[in-house]
Amino acid sequence: MSLAIVAIGAKSTSGYRGSMSSIAVCPSCGTKNRVPVASSGRPQCASCHQPLPWLVEAGDADLDAALNTDHLVLIDLWAPWCGPCTMVAPVLQRLSVRYSGKVKVVKVNVDHNPRSSARFDAQSIPTLVMTRHGAVVDRIVGAQGEAALVARIEPLLVTR
Ligand SMILES: [Zn+2]
Repeated sequence: MSLAIVAIGAKSTSGYRGSMSSIAVCPSCGTKNRVPVASSGRPQCASCHQPLPWLVEAGDADLDAALNTDHLVLIDLWAPWCGPCTMVAPVLQRLSVRYSGKVKVVKVNVDHNPRSSARFDAQSIPTLVMTRHGAVVDRIVGAQGEAALVARIEPLLVTR
């Protein structure tokens, strides 16, 4: 068993249902790995132990579990019908690889999760909200390129 899986299990909260997870394909070896929504540390490939993209999908039921990490969280409030959201999705995918273990990307579909949407005031989408320990530290409304997002993320990592 890999260290990553031990760490993930140890941080699970009592009310958390273990079935909630996302599949991450390892960029190094192609193995499909299950990344729990509540994962709180650097996810690793079970096969080759390289860092996995740290990206999960969460909703009203498990958003608090998803935000329960010491690391920076980037919440993507999106919907399938939103064109700019579709454009920003591959950027977030790349960031989840680049910042694996440092930034946890949490995707929230606003259509299915009205409470999360209201909580982070997603009046227009995409809205990107960065949190640490559940507190909002930055928010960006509208689609952004990778360089623009990196410029917003980097200063937040330095303060850690
Ligand atoms: Zn691998």
